[in-house]
Amino acid sequence: MSFDKLIRGGILMTPDGPRPGQLALSGGRIAGVLGPDEQAEAGEMIDATGLQILPGLIDIHCHIRSPAYPNRGSVETETAACAAGGITSVFEMPITDPCCNTPEKVQRRREHFAQRAHVDFGLYAAPLPLTEAAVDALAGSGIIAFKIFTTPPPPGREREFAGLAWPDPADQMQALRLIARTGLPVVVHAENADILARAAQLVAGDDPGDARIHNRARPPMAEALAVAMLLTMNMRAQARLHIAHVTSADSIEVLRRFAGTSDFTAETCPHYLCYTETDVARAGVAAKINPPIRHAADREALWQAIEDGVLAHVTTDHAAFTPQEKAAHTGNFLTAPPGHPGLETMLPAMLDAVHTGRISLQRAVSVMSTNAAARFGLPDRGRLSKGGRADIVLIDPTALTTPTAAKLLTAAHNIATLTEGAVFHGALRRTLLAGETIWHDGLTGTPGQGRFITPKGQA
Ligand SMILES: [Zn+2]
Repeated sequence: MSFDKLIRGGILMTPDGPRPGQLALSGGRIAGVLGPDEQAEAGEMIDATGLQILPGLIDIHCHIRSPAYPNRGSVETETAACAAGGITSVFEMPITDPCCNTPEKVQRRREHFAQRAHVDFGLYAAPLPLTEAAVDALAGSGIIAFKIFTTPPPPGREREFAGLAWPDPADQMQALRLIARTGLPVVVHAENADILARAAQLVAGDDPGDARIHNRARPPMAEALAVAMLLTMNMRAQARLHIAHVTSADSIEVLRRFAGTSDFTAETCPHYLCYTETDVARAGVAAKINPPIRHAADREALWQAIEDGVLAHVTTDHAAFTPQEKAAHTGNFLTAPPGHPGLETMLPAMLDAVHTGRISLQRAVSVMSTNAAARFGLPDRGRLSKGGRADIVLIDPTALTTPTAAKLLTAAHNIATLTEGAVFHGALRRTLLAGETIWHDGLTGTPGQGRFITPKGQA
């Protein structure tokens, strides 16, 4: 047998667990999973001795925003960061100016991304208006899923959130019902608007420079209550519901209690797993993220939920701002724009958790790749099996990753204060997209290599 490429000498993370073996690639696909000593010919041999071989990561929650806000980064810079973070498929949220809420806007963004992306990309859309015709038209435009918020638009950002922000529960119920008919998932940013409004009154007059104000202004109960309401609605609506960035022990308890009542999943992010409010105080407003990074007990509950499957997904929620946009709100955790880069630190942070014994490597692969492929209808991604796409990452578990601003490829490297100074055990060595090396101790791919991702059965 002769193949385009042969990756040999490493440990394969297969759907059945880790084992020594070789991966044969041809035509952008995995052509065979071979035993460690099987003889095969290939045009290129990739030596993976001492390395672990994983399916490429699928980040289902990312904010690039392009073509709006070019100062915050471009499709080129942020998908280069994906390649440098082992992410071969990235799902872009619809918050941009204007909000991605019509088939025409989906098409325009698709063309913009297709010419520039280093990795494969899917696009979310916001349902506007909440009618069968509008939702069906968006579902037919090739989107990966829908996104909504249970909160009102942030002041001044109404255009970015047109079709996203549905604080009225009756509208949320309508959105779930309409989207359920399409068969596509609906991802929800869940915080209760009434609780947030009351909390804002309660903290008025307190020191906005004290990082703890953020948790009091957006308390865990706001999230837990919104999750409970959505899961209650979904007992009737039966949408394929996905709760974005779960942060708190209270929400985990709610998710546990609703198990089996509808088709729902939930995610968290490395910043909620690795850090607490104290770290945000150290890192300043650049590390302000909505919902807030919480406390040690919440962090513990999130890890436990990953272990027992209540949380099946880990995502970056990468969201860039310029240093100027963050600096304009230095000392004010209430008004600072929420968001922090994460594309290049998710993998090392999770590898570090494997190193310390917090989770198994197989679980890390499931929550960053395999489960996303299953949830979003992408049967040829997220696993190392014959016939699948040759989206692959090579990991050195003994090397260290130190994500300093100078090393990060994201345009937002100067606001990555939360992870600045971190030392993660485990490092990316190589990223392959459809069998081509796009990152190998530096970017080697070219813009436009990434393809548009549509769910199975869509155009
Ligand atoms: Zn987000």
